Amino acid sequence: MADGIKPQPGIMDIALYEGGVSHLDGVSNVLKLSSNENPLGPSDAAKEAFSRAVHQLHRYPSTDHAGLRTAIGDVWGVDPDRVICGVGSDEILHFMCQCYVGPGDEVIHTEHGFAIYRIATLAAGGTPVEVRERERVTDVDAILEACNDRTKLVFIANPNNPTGTMIGQSELARLAEGLPSQAILVLDGAYAEYVDAYDAGLALVEARNNVIMTRTFSKIYGLGGMRVGWGYGPREIIEVMNRIRGPFNMSSAALAAAEAAVRDTDYTEKCRVDNARMREWMATALAELGVPSDTSTANFVLARFADETEADACDDALRKAGIIVRKVAGYKLPHCLRITVGDESACRRVVHAVAQFKGAVK
Ligand SMILES: *Cc1c(COP(=O)(O)O)cnc(C)c1O
Repeated sequence: MADGIKPQPGIMDIALYEGGVSHLDGVSNVLKLSSNENPLGPSDAAKEAFSRAVHQLHRYPSTDHAGLRTAIGDVWGVDPDRVICGVGSDEILHFMCQCYVGPGDEVIHTEHGFAIYRIATLAAGGTPVEVRERERVTDVDAILEACNDRTKLVFIANPNNPTGTMIGQSELARLAEGLPSQAILVLDGAYAEYVDAYDAGLALVEARNNVIMTRTFSKIYGLGGMRVGWGYGPREIIEVMNRIRGPFNMSSAALAAAEAAVRDTDYTEKCRVDNARMREWMATALAELGVPSDTSTANFVLARFADETEADACDDALRKAGIIVRKVAGYKLPHCLRITVGDESACRRVVHAVAQFKGAVK
């Protein structure tokens, strides 16, 4: 490499993202509970829409995503003109950093916040600022204390990954109200559909000009492989992002599958109810084995062990049993394992394996 060639400042500070593992050497019936995927997969309507898209593969996709934005508007009661679609919600998070962050700017994320916030900040040349949580819960006071006149964005996942905890509407409102005038609150609602009676921050977006929310099709909609997410915010912010969005960022198959998925509200509701039932069952069963967790509002449980040694040993035992869960030492939770809520047989299998590890069954 020529001596003078260097990437932009910040880029080399980004550690390569490690996704959930999906296979184990020598194990055939691997159970993957490491990426918070929907164990039931996408709705049949989404699969059919994807199949139909095969006949139009030679055509460029829509550049304005009108079909998907209209469907989102119909289902969620939002103004389609203020919706932006991205290649996963990750792309929207990157857009926000590219549009509003540069060298010298600070971006706040929480202690156990999602890895992409830091990556997108560094990619834009900005400075990530990590703020402590209170017992694995977002601490609004700590965030407000960390704000200054260089703060441009505050990223909060609500519910948060990997903790599974969330804060209430009044705390979110207090956070948005207390931000400095140049800062935007980005509410990442990747798991919002799993929460009963939570608007994902919609009312707050409508009431203010400094809040945007992001959503994804990768979790409850079961379309992680399609890469579709969306954002909703003030018209000015959406228009800024649309300037840098690739005109053909979304594939036609992804748009078609997502549009059908969001309209299949019965299926989404079934997934929400199933998840809540199996999550309670799994969390209770693990707690009875001496593996507690905070009350989760998402589609995973953050299982806590005595220490890092025990968490690693349990992870090894699970792998030997063909089960992949997520180590979260990179999220400063080395004594924990994040376990995605699977279908009933998956939950029984993982609980049985933990019980064997704990010596509770032979
Ligand atoms: C899974 C997840 C996302 C979704 O990312 P996509 O790019 O839409 O697949 C966003 N935020 C958090 C906190 C997540 O856990």
